[in-house]
Amino acid sequence: MKININTLDWEKTNGLIPVIVQNNQTLEVLMLGYMNAEAFEKTQKESKVTFFSRSKNRLWTKGEESGNFLTVKSISVDCDKDTILIKADPVGPTCHTGSRSCFNTEYNQNFLFELEHIISDRYENPVDGSYIDKMRKKGLNKIAQKVGEEGVETVIAALAETDVDFVNEASDLIFHLMFLLREKGKTLEDIALNLEKRHK
Ligand code: AMP
Ligand code: ZN
Ligand code: ZN
Ligand code: ZN
Repeated sequence: MKININTLDWEKTNGLIPVIVQNNQTLEVLMLGYMNAEAFEKTQKESKVTFFSRSKNRLWTKGEESGNFLTVKSISVDCDKDTILIKADPVGPTCHTGSRSCFNTEYNQNFLFELEHIISDRYENPVDGSYIDKMRKKGLNKIAQKVGEEGVETVIAALAETDVDFVNEASDLIFHLMFLLREKGKTLEDIALNLEKRHK
């Protein structure tokens, strides 16, 4: 869906609108840049993020030298039309330092969502002999049973002395629970929405 350029408040922003770029899958914030009207039009036309670079003083297609383009998945405009949010699939690292994001997070806070995507991908494009593939062939009972086992192991580890095992077992539990969710056609979003509803 194309956004009309006139819906944006160019006057208020002196012709340069800040643009937040988010990873479309993990929602990690990747970078912030500015667009003038021309950069905005080019971005919409080519589905590759193009900024107006204040240091280069010209249009700058992110990835033009490095090949690390940002492929546009969706564009939205904020409440008062002076900020743009782009969800994109990054090709390679977004930051020129080689980091995934310009905002150097120590770890990917959204990895659970990335993992959910990876699990789902294994369903859509089965990898023969992969753990998920093998478990799926054994069926729902086996996957559900595994959640039970990992739950018990997590409890045992929680009551033991060291916590290395506890983190490992809790990881096993969450992974298998996510696997079971996918098997049942449910998502982390369903869980989040449900918990949020209860919280209210
Ligand atoms: P690229 O657009 O990835 O081909 O990079 C071209 C040049 O833009 C690099 O040499 C950097 O100077 C600069 N650059 C690249 N990525 C970023 C970024 N995320 N933030 C700021 N500057 C960048
Ligand atoms: Zn605003
Ligand atoms: Zn950077
Ligand atoms: Zn375990």
